Amino acid sequence: MPTSMKGDGHAAPAAVSTVGLRKSYGDKVVLDGIDLHIPAGSVFALLGPNGAGKTTAVKILSTLVTADGGQAQVAGHDLAADPQAVRAAIGVTGQFSAVDGLITGEENMLLMADLHHLSKQEGRRTAAELLARLDLTEAAKKPAATYSGGMKRRLDIAMTLVGKPRIIFLDEPTTGLDPRSRHNMWQIIRELVTGGVTVFLTTQYLEEADQLADRIAVLNDGRIAAQGSAEELKRLIPGGHIRLRFTDPAAYQRAATALDDVTRDDEALALRLPSDGSQRELRTLLDRLDSTGLEADELTVHTPDLDDVFFALTGPATPNQPKEALR
Ligand code: ADP
Repeated sequence: MPTSMKGDGHAAPAAVSTVGLRKSYGDKVVLDGIDLHIPAGSVFALLGPNGAGKTTAVKILSTLVTADGGQAQVAGHDLAADPQAVRAAIGVTGQFSAVDGLITGEENMLLMADLHHLSKQEGRRTAAELLARLDLTEAAKKPAATYSGGMKRRLDIAMTLVGKPRIIFLDEPTTGLDPRSRHNMWQIIRELVTGGVTVFLTTQYLEEADQLADRIAVLNDGRIAAQGSAEELKRLIPGGHIRLRFTDPAAYQRAATALDDVTRDDEALALRLPSDGSQRELRTLLDRLDSTGLEADELTVHTPDLDDVFFALTGPATPNQPKEALR
């Protein structure tokens, strides 16, 4: 079966692709027509406030619940027509973790190897290899209940990897972890992708999406409010600017007169110009400076961060948070 979707203009084969995915619980519409296209081998982050429907989306795509409407292909298989094939191609970790706390990490791994019908020898080899890869060799003989939060997540991922999934769903992989474990998990996720796996993660952390994801979709009110790379999303909202700082007051004065649309900071000898952060705009400014013989001592480009985007897209504009005052 082909892994690419119909001719919708995307070159890379899709790991996950949905059209008009819908789900309601009773009167509550949770997903109201979700379109996604996630290229194979990439990291995709589904970002949204609590209750936005992120877990519901993961449950649908991993065949745990059925959608009310729309279509989805996962790993090239139709979700409705061939859920068995989808299940064979994916791994799911997170809130529905399969880790059994009463047995050791190694025993958990061997159980998983049994489930995947590996021979005893193959199972032991795979378990040892994955435990080492996820830095759990030392803890392998201890009951999983004694593991820290980060270790449990790593074991969860190790268990998922026994099935050699092509697509891994990570539902809030770092929620509740301390900063070091979170960075550790980010590294693990990056390594998974280097190995060719597609990662679909949900997160409440903007920084996490920013750090890891090739593409981010912001889920709000059952719909995708915006989708793109972190940089693309940041450019969606105004507030970006270029800052030019001078050490020579005379140069500062000349630049302030020569350039249009600048905001002055006389104390810092800095000028601020609105900008979308694009290369084109930056080049225009540099050309302008060159032509007037001016040279700033420092030039910085400020794009709005993902927080700004997230709140602009998901929150109703609250009176005490006027967006135009952000930067
Ligand atoms: P998120 O993961 O973004 O926090 P969820 O997908 O868990 O959001 O939930 C989205 C909405 O759907 C919430 O309002 C939640 O209460 C509701 N919901 C989720 N699962 C069920 C269910 N099994 N029955 C009824 N409502 C549900």
